[in-house]
Amino acid sequence: MIIAGPCAAESRSQVLASAIMAKERGVEIVRASLWKPRTRPEFDGVQEAGISWLEEVTQLGLTPATEVLNESNAEQVVNRIAGGLGKDVLIWIGSRNQNHLIQRHIGEIAKGERHVKVLIKNQPWPDLSHWLGIVDHVVNGSGDSSQIILCHRGFSPGTNGLRNNPDFEMAMQVKAETGLPMLIDPSHMGGTREKVLDVIKQAQEFNINGVGFDGLMIEVHPNPEEAWTDKLQQLSWDQFDQAVRI
Ligand code: PEP
Ligand code: MN
Repeated sequence: MIIAGPCAAESRSQVLASAIMAKERGVEIVRASLWKPRTRPEFDGVQEAGISWLEEVTQLGLTPATEVLNESNAEQVVNRIAGGLGKDVLIWIGSRNQNHLIQRHIGEIAKGERHVKVLIKNQPWPDLSHWLGIVDHVVNGSGDSSQIILCHRGFSPGTNGLRNNPDFEMAMQVKAETGLPMLIDPSHMGGTREKVLDVIKQAQEFNINGVGFDGLMIEVHPNPEEAWTDKLQQLSWDQFDQAVRI
């Protein structure tokens, strides 16, 4: 499973250009987040204004994906895309969203919605039981773990030039204990294009007794130099082609 696209949705044309480039490569799920958690107050996403761009992504036969920060964000996306259009959509809970009531409520919003998948990223600090707990909260809400996908985005602070440190073994433990698919997010581990490419290689080579990651979620921007967020780590589509080769 590959989820690729820009960190943040910036404009209708940027989202649609990303979707077209994804489609040309057989990538079926396009990320372009409408809401962005930020360390300091700055651009925090185009928010509701971009839902219609995600609706247009579905017209290309693709599944749009966005982070949701709260129940209201989740409801709007689910109601318009899964409910209104009857199209698939993926919503994700980001690493900084560690309020378990919000996690559970987002699960409840997805409950019974066959067009909705919920991706859960790990929390920023390394703690196996907290990570398993997030999954439990969401599954308690949705009542159906077949909608859930997990994603390892590394732990803070990163060392050796990384933005966040991977812990492949812990990710495999969570995959084994939950029985859920585990993607890797090399973008937020790497932090720079060069390091992102290193992490992709490590993840491709990694497996324990034949078990490894089930895919990746990666930031790819039509013009990375001009990206509004996470500019240093977003790949161009050419770099994506060289590194990922579907
Ligand atoms: C993101 O995927 O753009 C993001 C904000 O990631 P994380 O929650 O892993 O920091
Ligand atoms: Mn990002």
